[in-house]
Amino acid sequence: MLRIGITGGIGSGKTTVCKIFETLQIPIYYADDRAKWLMVNSPSLQTGIQQLFGKEAYLEDGALNRAHIGGIAFKDPAKLQKLNALVHPAVFVDGENWQQEQLTFGATYTLKEAALIYETGSYKMLDKVIVVTAPEEMRIERVMKRDNLSAEAVKERIARQMPESEKVDKADYVIQNDGQHSLIKQVLSIHQAILALKA
Ligand code: ATP
Repeated sequence: MLRIGITGGIGSGKTTVCKIFETLQIPIYYADDRAKWLMVNSPSLQTGIQQLFGKEAYLEDGALNRAHIGGIAFKDPAKLQKLNALVHPAVFVDGENWQQEQLTFGATYTLKEAALIYETGSYKMLDKVIVVTAPEEMRIERVMKRDNLSAEAVKERIARQMPESEKVDKADYVIQNDGQHSLIKQVLSIHQAILALKA
C-alpha cells in the first residue's frame, strides 16, 4: 500500500482537495486534526503538556487552553520546541496505527494530510508528496474569511511557514488551487498516476 502525503501552506486548500480524494474512497489521515484530538484525549500527552505548561494548560471542561499555551510558546521558543517534541512522536505512532488498520480495507494508497511534511521530515516515510498551491492573495483572503482574522495576522502565519516555492520544488505532484484550474481534473489525474505506480 503506497503512502502519499498532501501538504501546502495555510489556506492553500489541502482540506478542500482531500474532500475530493475522499469521494474516490481514499483513506485520509488528517494529522493536524488528529494532533489536536490527541492533545485532549491521550493521557500521556496530557501529562506531558501539564508538566510543560502547568495545570492551566487545560480548561475546566477538559479543552486545551490555547490562549495560555500560545502565550507561553510565543515568548519561549524552547517551550514550543518541547511541545512539538511531545506532540510529533505521539501523532507519528497514532498515524502508524491508523496505517496498519487501513491494510485490512485494501485501498491501493492512503493519504496523510499535514501542514508540516517537509519541515518535520515525515516525507521520508512517504512514497510521494502532493503540494497544493494558491496565489498568496487568494490564500490570505480565504483564511481571513474562514478564521475571521486580519490580513496582517494571516501574513504573519504565512511568513512563519516554509515558502511555497520551496515546497513546489520538492513536490512529486502539484495541485493549483487558483480558481482557474479544475481541482477535480487535477485530483483525478494524480489519482491515476498513483494507481499506475502500483500497476
Ligand atoms: P489550513 O492549512 O489553514 O488548514 P487548508 O490548506 O486545509 O488550510 P482549506 O481549509 O481547504 O485550506 O481552504 C481554506 C479556505 O478556502 C476554506 O474556507 C475553503 O473553503 C476555501 N477554499 C479552498 N479552496 C477553494 C476554492 N477553490 N474556491 C473557493 N474557496 C476555496
